[in-house]
Amino acid sequence: MTNTDVIIVGAGPTGLMLAAELRLAGVRPLLLERQPQRRDTPKAGGLGGQILELLRHRGLLDRFQAACTGPAPAPRFPFGGVHLDFTQLTDPPLHALPLPQQELERLLEERAGELGADVRRGHQVVGVSQDDAAVRVDVQGPDGPYQASARYLVGCDGARSRVRDRAGIGFPGTTYPEVNRLAQVTLPETVTVLGNGDLDVPGFGTIRAGFTRTDQGLFGVGSSPGSQAVSLYTIEDESTEYDDDVPMTLTELQDSVHRVLGVHLPLAGSARLSRFTFKARQAERYRHGRILLAGDAAHLFPATGVALNAGLLDAVNLAWKLAADLDGWAPSGLLDTYHTERHLAGARTMLHARAQVALRRGHDPAAEALREVFSELLTDEQPLRRMGALVAGSDVRYPMSGSHPLAGTFAPDLTLHTDQGMTSLAELMHTGRPVLLDLAGRPDLREIAGDWRHRVDIHVAKTGQRPADVLLIRPDAHVAWAAALDEPAGTAAPALREALSGWFGTPLTSP
Ligand SMILES: Cc1cc2nc3c(=O)[nH]c(=O)nc-3n(C[C@H](O)[C@H](O)[C@H](O)COP(=O)(O)OP(=O)(O)OC[C@H]3O[C@@H](n4cnc5c(N)ncnc54)[C@H](O)[C@@H]3O)c2cc1C
Repeated sequence: MTNTDVIIVGAGPTGLMLAAELRLAGVRPLLLERQPQRRDTPKAGGLGGQILELLRHRGLLDRFQAACTGPAPAPRFPFGGVHLDFTQLTDPPLHALPLPQQELERLLEERAGELGADVRRGHQVVGVSQDDAAVRVDVQGPDGPYQASARYLVGCDGARSRVRDRAGIGFPGTTYPEVNRLAQVTLPETVTVLGNGDLDVPGFGTIRAGFTRTDQGLFGVGSSPGSQAVSLYTIEDESTEYDDDVPMTLTELQDSVHRVLGVHLPLAGSARLSRFTFKARQAERYRHGRILLAGDAAHLFPATGVALNAGLLDAVNLAWKLAADLDGWAPSGLLDTYHTERHLAGARTMLHARAQVALRRGHDPAAEALREVFSELLTDEQPLRRMGALVAGSDVRYPMSGSHPLAGTFAPDLTLHTDQGMTSLAELMHTGRPVLLDLAGRPDLREIAGDWRHRVDIHVAKTGQRPADVLLIRPDAHVAWAAALDEPAGTAAPALREALSGWFGTPLTSP
């Protein structure tokens, strides 16, 4: 029987990110993926939100940006049938990276491979069981069935997670009877793209550029003058439960356009065809004993552009806690904070995703009025920033001790001046180790942290507009504790000791 530290089921973005983060923390993951090759079904067109900052903290953002296929999108983000328009803001609260999911998965697998993760394709997990000491899986591999065991197993096996079912974890929520179809297609010469973007279809007449609502649904078309390549979009009420891994066909798209607009739109070919359904579901628990869930296996949001952000951040939150547990130094309850923190973050994403359903789905004048009022509100900077932070996931504050406003939040990427020259907080986090950052020359607090130097890197730096005297930052770039400006040693020292032992275990000098 194969024996390892952690078995990850599923090499989608979440499983690949988790494998890389576990390797960074010195853990041996075994990643089992049922597909023999990386899939080529088009899914996400890009990444957005807080995960981009995390990639910067791992030194990966430049590499991911270099792989972008298209120009960066205008800083507008879809939100329930309206848009968050950040074009007037110099420092928008939400960023996006146009990176097709296939390319994202390739980059994540490359990273996991560089760090030495064991990724096995064509290995389907068909059975899962656990006891107090271990988790065991039955695997159907290319050379026949075998068993593997590990101390922990993480189900990153997507929306229809078998791991979730086997662990008996409920997945309550709503499935909306609605299907969205999205395509980049080529029109035949018989269809004329007019100068204003409208389409002239022989035997039918004009299809207006932009969105058209009918009693049967919504149709959208976007084109560039002189080009037969256009983007098409349909939304229909339909209760079929499609499998996201089964691609849409050109005929399915044409049938949908026909139902919504009553026109047979001739199509010559396609560059991208995708379909998605909307579900609002969140696992009741992200952990059951030695089994944990992350990514789509843990949550499905009825909104576009937010799922990858949530799933990849789950992986980053979980990896170092698993590593601490496996290494034997995890403080009591550390692994359970994975559920506490990421379920909370998932619920926050669910809040705005459900609100988007309410905004988007209505067809009557009242719904139109709601969208208009909402759009008006979003022309003001303050609500726009607030919604941007909500969608980015950057307004999440994990429960932490201490009253400093940064405690529990994602650490700001400060520019730092050190004796060795200029650097940034993000650069100090490339190794994924915890950091104690002294921004005010506080040898009293550095001396305390010295007792945890086997686990925590200690740095001294200066920064303009320092937000705190000292920051204690976890591997997932969240602030575990912060000393207020000029905070006296009398209060700061015991609080720092408590934070260090609460997150990073016993000090070196402990008996
Ligand atoms: C058309 C479309 C557009 C989308 N657009 C966006 C977008 O713009 N932004 C965004 O953030 N999200 C988007 N999403 C959602 C995004 O694709 C998912 O959130 C993401 O793929 C989830 O990643 P994951 O790794 O958690 O799960 P998945 O990507 O579903 O990966 C799960 C993996 O587990 C494997 N697996 C399953 N069962 C087993 C088993 N028993 N044994 C071994 N392996 C198994 C599967 O083969 C799969 O490779 C879109 C989805 C679709 C369908």
